[in-house]
Amino acid sequence: MAYQHISIPESGEKISVVDGRLSVPDNPILGYIEGDGIGPDITRACLRVWDAAIEKAYDGRRRVHWCEIFMGEKASDTYDGDYFPAESLAALRDLTVSIKGPLTTPVGGGFRSLNVSLRQELDLYACVRPVRYYEGVPSPLREPEKVDVVIFRENTEDVYAGIEFASRSAENRKLERFLRDEMGVDFFEDAGLAIKPISPFGTRRLVRKAIRYAIENQRESVCLVHKGNIMKYTEGAFRNWGYELAREEFAEHTVSEEDLYRRHGGKRPPGKVVIKDRIADIIFQLMLLRPSEFDVLATMNLNGDYLSDAVAAEVGGIGIAPGANMADHVAVFEATHGTAPKYANLDKVNPGSLLFSGVMMLEYIGWKEAADLITHAYPEVVKRGVVTYDFARLMEGASEVSTSAFADAIIDQINGLDVESKRQERLSAIERERSAREAWHASDPHGAMEASGRRPHTVRDIMTGPPISVDPAANVRDAMQLMRENGISSVLVTPGDGGEWGIMTQRDIVSRIVHARRSPGRVRVEDIATRPLITVPIDMSLYDCSSTMLASKVRRVVVMGTDSPIGIVSDTDIFETVNEFGWTTEDI
Ligand code: NAP
Repeated sequence: MAYQHISIPESGEKISVVDGRLSVPDNPILGYIEGDGIGPDITRACLRVWDAAIEKAYDGRRRVHWCEIFMGEKASDTYDGDYFPAESLAALRDLTVSIKGPLTTPVGGGFRSLNVSLRQELDLYACVRPVRYYEGVPSPLREPEKVDVVIFRENTEDVYAGIEFASRSAENRKLERFLRDEMGVDFFEDAGLAIKPISPFGTRRLVRKAIRYAIENQRESVCLVHKGNIMKYTEGAFRNWGYELAREEFAEHTVSEEDLYRRHGGKRPPGKVVIKDRIADIIFQLMLLRPSEFDVLATMNLNGDYLSDAVAAEVGGIGIAPGANMADHVAVFEATHGTAPKYANLDKVNPGSLLFSGVMMLEYIGWKEAADLITHAYPEVVKRGVVTYDFARLMEGASEVSTSAFADAIIDQINGLDVESKRQERLSAIERERSAREAWHASDPHGAMEASGRRPHTVRDIMTGPPISVDPAANVRDAMQLMRENGISSVLVTPGDGGEWGIMTQRDIVSRIVHARRSPGRVRVEDIATRPLITVPIDMSLYDCSSTMLASKVRRVVVMGTDSPIGIVSDTDIFETVNEFGWTTEDI
């Protein structure tokens, strides 16, 4: 298409979509919008850093041909007062991948936010915000390095869809009458009313994007964040549709958290992404206390809005957090902060947010080597205390530099970097942390459950095991020693002639050895064991398990696998569960 003010560089080639995937030439044309306020300062600095990283990574074999697109105040100057020119929108679609600085939302009647308009016009349905810690960046957390998540926020639905009716307006009155008269619902007089649409279509395309990202980037899990316990048909439906999509489209690559514990003993099958879900309010707590349990979060518009800023703040990253708004292929990467007008043209502010949005963009087009150079160079510079004013005021002994000088320092660092060893260091650290966490999950399932925010519902969730068993012919003294060494209060007894499993407990020692004045070394386990076992299936609810224990007058039951016992649940386990997690009638 012919543009009036946008000149498409003739030397480059446009990115295209072939068979549903981006096809990126070695000389792609990428769009950029400078933005307003501090936009020109940070864009100028970042373009230099991105180009330097690409040059170092590919030695001239690859180069971006940048194409300026106008929006905001610069567009208004160029297009006779139009802040949001149609041809800019067309160019963003045409070039597929672009990056933008912040845009002023003109104050005053009739203006929609340019950012909101952009999302709606291009149907950029996913807002993607990676949040991770960079060494040296000031953070309020004790272990900020444990935060490394990517948040996928649905951008088009929810209470943000703009379907709302002001108190006492004619439309409100009409809806109010319909709700009261036809639907039989009640609420306070003159309430403002809003509608919260959450659709299968909107949910599925967002969750699909999140799962694809997790698979392609070797992430461990995708967590669906929702408030489905209260809003069952919107947020609860989001959760259900998310699981359904994972089963239907990614069965080979994913495992649900339920199956992880039911079929895989809590150990993630290699290469599989775990699909789990958490209630929205608990996720804020978990992201502070146990951030390493989470990897990719997929959620609706309102939850995502709060969550992405809160998590970014944990790693001191609200000013450097990157982001992107994406459709299926068209993507606009963007600084997540505003235009900070008081710093405009002072060459003063932190270019981090736009810089890392560019890193995301390089990863998106598959130029990971260039992206890695920036990711690894950045903390080296910050650790030396070379930072812009905003970090300098939080760091002792830092030397404050300008936006452009900070970019120079990053470029110098990129040119002297051994990126492969840095990459290996980071991969090994992630691997070490994952294995330690997995080992801990296996050794302390209760603690792991509490930490991960799950709640126990079935015997699977609280059983201990696998149980230790002894031969019926063993003498009681040896069996007691085994119990002492393993810190357990019972052992199972393998099937005897009758083919039934049995159990010997501390109580049997009291009543059938001590009270019966017998010597443990002279009595066979068989003689004091109880057979048959009282067993329960792994899916039995805690309520039904308690009923079984009471009806059978036993203090522990054995959880049976396909053909042998796989765990034990005692009344102490149930007591501890109620003590730690509470108990309501909803748990029945
Ligand atoms: P803001 O521009 O983000 O600035 C708020 C404060 O954040 C600044 O005063 C500064 O704090 C700090 N800050 C922001 N960017 C920084 C950077 N790169 N480096 C260091 N510090 C930075 O928010 P605002 O003042 O509420 O909004 C101003 C305009 O931006 C409004 O017109 C708003 O509509 C627009 N906006 C646009 C976008 C977007 O385009 N995506 C997003 C948000 C807001 P100190 O003063 O403490 O140094």
